Amino acid sequence: MHIETEAIRTQMERSQYSEHSSPVYLTSSYVFDDAEEMRASFSEEKERNIYSRFSNPNTSEFIEKIAVMEGAEAGYAFATGMSAVFSTLAALLNSGDHIVSARSIFGSTHSLFTKYLPKWNITHSYFSVNEPEKIEELIKPETKVIFAETPTNPGVDILDLEHLGKIAKNHNILLIIDNCFATPYLQNPIKYGADLVIHSATKLIDGQGRVLGGVTVGSSELIREIYLFSRNTGPALSPFNAWILSKSLETLPVRLDRHCENALKVAEFLEQETNAENVKYPFLRSHPQYEIAKKQMKAGGNIISFEIKGGVEAGRKFIDGVQLCSRSANLGDTRTIVTHPASTTHSKLKEEERLEAGIKPGLIRISVGLEHVEDIINDLKQALNT
Ligand SMILES: *Cc1c(COP(=O)(O)O)cnc(C)c1O
Repeated sequence: MHIETEAIRTQMERSQYSEHSSPVYLTSSYVFDDAEEMRASFSEEKERNIYSRFSNPNTSEFIEKIAVMEGAEAGYAFATGMSAVFSTLAALLNSGDHIVSARSIFGSTHSLFTKYLPKWNITHSYFSVNEPEKIEELIKPETKVIFAETPTNPGVDILDLEHLGKIAKNHNILLIIDNCFATPYLQNPIKYGADLVIHSATKLIDGQGRVLGGVTVGSSELIREIYLFSRNTGPALSPFNAWILSKSLETLPVRLDRHCENALKVAEFLEQETNAENVKYPFLRSHPQYEIAKKQMKAGGNIISFEIKGGVEAGRKFIDGVQLCSRSANLGDTRTIVTHPASTTHSKLKEEERLEAGIKPGLIRISVGLEHVEDIINDLKQALNT
């Protein structure tokens, strides 16, 4: 069936109350009929819920939906996107292993690679999103994983998933894609050879700025490793949040259609503004990787970046000038959000590190929401011209 139908009709079994919409199962544990059933369940001869750190009907429904939408066999749901990234890597990597990653990645993922994984002797090499032809030079015998996000945060660059998939296959290493900006509706990396797909469900999957969550999907074999690690270390998603997120998936396709329509109009408006330079949106013809975006994405997503004339000061002034849009670091909300990475999310980086990651002093990131597009544009217009 179509992804819109799967997002609505993938549902847990009904209880004896015949509810139409899935209920919330806020329970930490489950009961057994007798000692034999308990033994069989713990030894995994029988598949059933034992304890909500392992599984729960609400988290299972959420995982199944994401897996169906991404074309994956299985998955595990986490308390946050970062616990999904960390637990996935911690479950699969050993001391001495090496990661090849795009340099433009989420700030906390960068901290994980540079500050924490080295404690367990897991190292990394970064490639620039503008030099995908240099990726293979970085691969060593110890390389176990290629890691990337596309579109990237906050630069909105696009990496060619098919190219990454081929490299991973040729070298027999895992390709892990953080698909947060695209969601399962706009892009399915597994089709292009990704082994695992990670989402921060906190963003567009929730879509209304309410709960945190994360998920990893892929082959049953890899997910089994991640499941065993997580079942023992405890990053599980709360059943309540899983219930919210599974409900949100029912409307993901219609929400995304409007997010993308609004974002394209806002991007086209910004391209005409003299105070906004270097406007980047995947489905603008001027985007350097427009052809790749068209190949692998259904639409351009809801994130736009541009540079405001006048550097850091102008960036801060613009942020102060918006009246409707929210000043926040989140993204993927119904409310349009503006962020100035150089003075906030990436302020701890050195200037040269920021530039290497494509973050110019005047870079502004907009997460386009679901307000009427004319109201969004009018607010941006007045903020740009004050
Ligand atoms: C927000 C985000 C994360 C982390 O997700 P949390 O749910 O905040 O932990 C990871 N990757 C990307 C691309 C993100 O935008």
